[in-house]
Amino acid sequence: MTVNGKYIWMDGTFVQWDKARIHPMSNSIQYGIGIFEGLRSFSGKEGNFIFRLQDHTDRLFQSAHILGMKIPFTKKQLNEAQIETVKKNKILQAYIRPYVYFGEENHGFHSVNLKVHAMIAVFEMKSELDPEKPIKLHSSSFIHAQANSQMCRAKSSGNYLSGWQAFNEAKAVGYDDALIFDQQGHVTETSGANVFIVNKGVLYTPTETNILPGITRNTVFSIAKDLNLELVVKTITKDEVYIADEVFITGTATEIQSVSFLDTKKIGSETTGPITRKIQKAYKDIVSGSNSKYINWLTPI
Ligand code: PMP
Repeated sequence: MTVNGKYIWMDGTFVQWDKARIHPMSNSIQYGIGIFEGLRSFSGKEGNFIFRLQDHTDRLFQSAHILGMKIPFTKKQLNEAQIETVKKNKILQAYIRPYVYFGEENHGFHSVNLKVHAMIAVFEMKSELDPEKPIKLHSSSFIHAQANSQMCRAKSSGNYLSGWQAFNEAKAVGYDDALIFDQQGHVTETSGANVFIVNKGVLYTPTETNILPGITRNTVFSIAKDLNLELVVKTITKDEVYIADEVFITGTATEIQSVSFLDTKKIGSETTGPITRKIQKAYKDIVSGSNSKYINWLTPI
């Protein structure tokens, strides 16, 4: 059972979880034009921290800019509100969900008179990363949105329509998640994570053309540098995934998750490979505060 916070921060005040409401005629509910973030707090030897808070808040404001939403709070206010929400709910290993949405002042598309609201909810999320449990991916029958149809860099509700369907399709046929391809057949991302493949010791990950450039993906870029691993950002095809030595996916909730199958094809040794294991360990050290080089990514709670 998920442990939810007792209080949700809504436009500057705390509201009880059960009493929190958004109007059903909210433009964001009707049309999917809402933006959000997903970030986490971790407990380590040095205390409790939110991981890369400023980077997530920066991405939230970028999403707002892309979709023309004027957030009525400063970045500093939203950073403080996120810390306060974790504290108030006394959930120290939390998934934090800020969501910015339009009001119900207009029923059509014209956004000019719409109020913009913000809320922050938290629920408990402990690290469930187990290197001995790689996952199986299913090639989605849903094609990823392309760069000129939906603005893929905005972490917006509407952008999750195909990923949501792809995920449920994968689950229905016995897989853990979906690998989603673009119109040209190139690998994009899973329903909620970025993709890396390892071939002969080199890391490859898809270009940023039509994916959400994840903050965990960016963290892996730093880890690769520290581990002296070559990293190439390029278009990736399905057969490259089939013949990769290792495949892993990255995301805030996902962390660093190895992949053993794509459809019916076994990947590498079918177990978590040595490079993925090194990256998993390095990631754990960073988020738990054990690697002093990245202490500035951790905001104390
Ligand atoms: N792609 C999609 C579609 C996602 O939903 C996420 C999770 N936010 C990611 C990639 C990974 O992003 P991050 O590492 O910032 O969590």
